[in-house]
Amino acid sequence: MSYNVAIDGPAGAGKSTVARAVARRMNLIYVDTGAMYRAMALFMIREGVDPNDAAAISEKCKGADITIGYENGEQVVYLNGENVNAFLRTEEVGRMASVTSAQPAVRKKLVELQQALAAKSDCVMDGRDIATCVLPNAQVKIYLTASSKVRAKRRFDELTEKGISCDLAQIQADIEDRDYRDMHRETSPLRQDKDAVPVDSSDLTAEQVIERILEICGQSERS
Ligand code: C5P
Repeated sequence: MSYNVAIDGPAGAGKSTVARAVARRMNLIYVDTGAMYRAMALFMIREGVDPNDAAAISEKCKGADITIGYENGEQVVYLNGENVNAFLRTEEVGRMASVTSAQPAVRKKLVELQQALAAKSDCVMDGRDIATCVLPNAQVKIYLTASSKVRAKRRFDELTEKGISCDLAQIQADIEDRDYRDMHRETSPLRQDKDAVPVDSSDLTAEQVIERILEICGQSERS
């Protein structure tokens, strides 16, 4: 059986930074499931699908072949054979992903892909429903949170550093909207699994969060 670490939590809690570092230090593969939902959202945007049309999303998703690979240790997402990594991190794609990911047909398709990856490789996988739905038998389950204020400020700093002008209050409002949609959707809403260890990163540096998760992993059996 493979060794799996599941990290769930809301947008902007620092999951990907931390999960990537934990994977590297434990010599595991890192699987970013958000990137898969983003690739699906990119497909819907390119196809001109109306985000409010649930039937169209369910139907269209059949035409999206999403696979992942690794180049220089980094996860690469392929959408119908094209490397789409460069297009996934925009606010537009993030917003669309939070809508399209609520559709059961989209989730079924991507969850199957995630389960197949985790069955064949020891990995750290991050997302919203990893502990509760994708990998209920993961050896380690972490629920990583931070206040919406702190998460918005981190995102604001990240964008400002890249020279992108943005509005802090708007970013916080977007994050809270996304949290609401992720937590209240019918299929696999974001929630803390009963076995998950909560880690609040509001007042911790990334390095402190990484250390804490490595410590939790150290207390679990790795076969
Ligand atoms: O984590 P990230 O912001 O990249 O995820 C984009 C969107 O994909 C989230 O807002 C969420 O709606 C969705 N998602 C999901 N389940 C996952 C990972 C992401 O529904 N396991």
